[in-house]
Amino acid sequence: MSNTKEHISNGSCPVYKKCGGCQLQNLTYKQQLELKQKKVEKLLKKFCKVMPIIGMETPYHYRNKVQAAFRTTKQGKIISGVYQSGTHHIVGIDSCQTEDETADRIIVAVRKLLPSFKMTTYNEDTGKGFLRHVLVKRGFATNEVMLVLVTGTPVFPSKNNFVKAIRKQFPQITTIVQNVNPYRTNLVLGDNQKVLYGKGYIEDILCGCKFRISPKSFYQINPVQTEVLYNTAMDFAQLKGNEVVLDTYCGIGTIGIVAAKRSAGRVIGVELNGDAVRDAIVNAKSNELKNIRFFKGDAGEFMYEVANEDEKPDVVFMDPPRAGSDEKFLSSLIKMSPKTVVYISCNPETMARDLEYMTHNNDYKVQKIQPVDMFPHTAHVECVVLMSKK
Ligand code: SAH
Repeated sequence: MSNTKEHISNGSCPVYKKCGGCQLQNLTYKQQLELKQKKVEKLLKKFCKVMPIIGMETPYHYRNKVQAAFRTTKQGKIISGVYQSGTHHIVGIDSCQTEDETADRIIVAVRKLLPSFKMTTYNEDTGKGFLRHVLVKRGFATNEVMLVLVTGTPVFPSKNNFVKAIRKQFPQITTIVQNVNPYRTNLVLGDNQKVLYGKGYIEDILCGCKFRISPKSFYQINPVQTEVLYNTAMDFAQLKGNEVVLDTYCGIGTIGIVAAKRSAGRVIGVELNGDAVRDAIVNAKSNELKNIRFFKGDAGEFMYEVANEDEKPDVVFMDPPRAGSDEKFLSSLIKMSPKTVVYISCNPETMARDLEYMTHNNDYKVQKIQPVDMFPHTAHVECVVLMSKK
């Protein structure tokens, strides 16, 4: 395996079985990488040889986004932690080997402050109570920290003093947001939010580009490996300088912005989430890029429309969610026939299905497959695939 040392997994995690988040924790890191390599090979090697997975040098505390649910026990003790996989049972934890350590410390501090501010926790059965979740995001490159308090009701009488108290303990918190989620739902964040302190967002730097991150927009959770992932994607794309590039499922525009900065002639991004698109537009401006535009909408619809216009993209990046892409997208992509397609996926199963679609009529050939370990100790594995027009 390239680029990795032998790490003995921390079998000492007290909630390994209860939590279920780190499915591979019983294996050494080297064994985890071997397992992931085999999984990818099983699904994808029929398309092309799979390159050796790129693991992390230090596969701990890599998560820049940490979320904790809050509850009060029958004995009146407040606990915070993670939901046991597939249940609504909260496993109380103070720290986790995958999570950012500052974020974990902030969550514990919030929990300890609650009684003195008479802040209650939300009860999922009765729908009553105040604090539901705490979300912390940290820019690893900038050290800016965002604290989001998700509450069941909007009224927060002690907010000014609470903000003061938590900032006193953690001066690195640059913004605090109250997100109100009054609904009986599995979604963590609600629709309404109020900035209690700072700008309401944080910034981070990836591949030399600056990105704004809002409470709700998607941002890769392992920034160290995201740079590896994006550099691989750029390497596969081989941009020369004057290509028309599409960044589909673009989130806050990270891949397109890195491409635009490195030489792409013109970049167009498309994304469904409106908050993320707004961030993408701001990100393009703050990186002083004029050769990039973003559209809000379904990527399949967008591809269908572009395929029926005169526009002829040279390179298409696609980075869909776990469910993979859809037929509308893929059939339009084949019709559009860009020279190069770079497909980034966090789910090799749906990726195998989509690669089958792209190659079964010999429209495209898979040239390279690079797995990257974005989520050490979990069973997830990310892949970057290069496809070329036949
Ligand atoms: N490329 C980005 C985001 C990848 S995550 C990055 O590297 O950070 C996948 C993104 O696809 C999410 O932002 C999600 O909101 C978006 N998405 C999901 N379904 C979509 C659809 N049908 N059309 C466009 N975007 C979609």
